[in-house]
Amino acid sequence: MPSGKTHDRITFLLVVPTFFAAYALTRQLEVSLFATLAMLFGGLMFGPDLDISSRQYYRWGYLRLIWLPYQRLFSHRSIFTHGIFVGTVVRIGYFCLVVALIALTSFYSLQLFEHKEPNVEALLRNLTIQTIRVIQSIPLDYLIVTLVGIWLGAASHTLADLITTTFKQIIKSL
Ligand SMILES: [Zn+2]
Repeated sequence: MPSGKTHDRITFLLVVPTFFAAYALTRQLEVSLFATLAMLFGGLMFGPDLDISSRQYYRWGYLRLIWLPYQRLFSHRSIFTHGIFVGTVVRIGYFCLVVALIALTSFYSLQLFEHKEPNVEALLRNLTIQTIRVIQSIPLDYLIVTLVGIWLGAASHTLADLITTTFKQIIKSL
């Protein structure tokens, strides 16, 4: 499979096509920029290789620890991390779950610290309501291009892996 460096190069090569494709579709400069940034994020930091100690993983700095359970849960190049659609869906789901757990634990600890009786049910309800409010406040076109951009960055990785593996198999069979 291609090295981390090659994957990064592919991601950077996609910057211009992503921007122009997004602009052709939306005719909005800001939305197209968002799509491009999301693609960069998907390729450089939110890609399939978060399932190993990769460049993508180390780019999270200390926060990379949140990806340790992910690496334990899924084996490298499994469908859950490298699946062209499943991979991104699982990663977004996993990331949201981790953020929710961190938020919940923080609020719970804060209430304990303030000598209040923590109410997990109320905390969960509040957290859900706040999350829905935040999501609703994001314009739909921004939300869509962000998701598509993230997916594209990761999909380019899976495709590059797939092409290299197939190519190697063909060479071997010759
Ligand atoms: Zn990979």
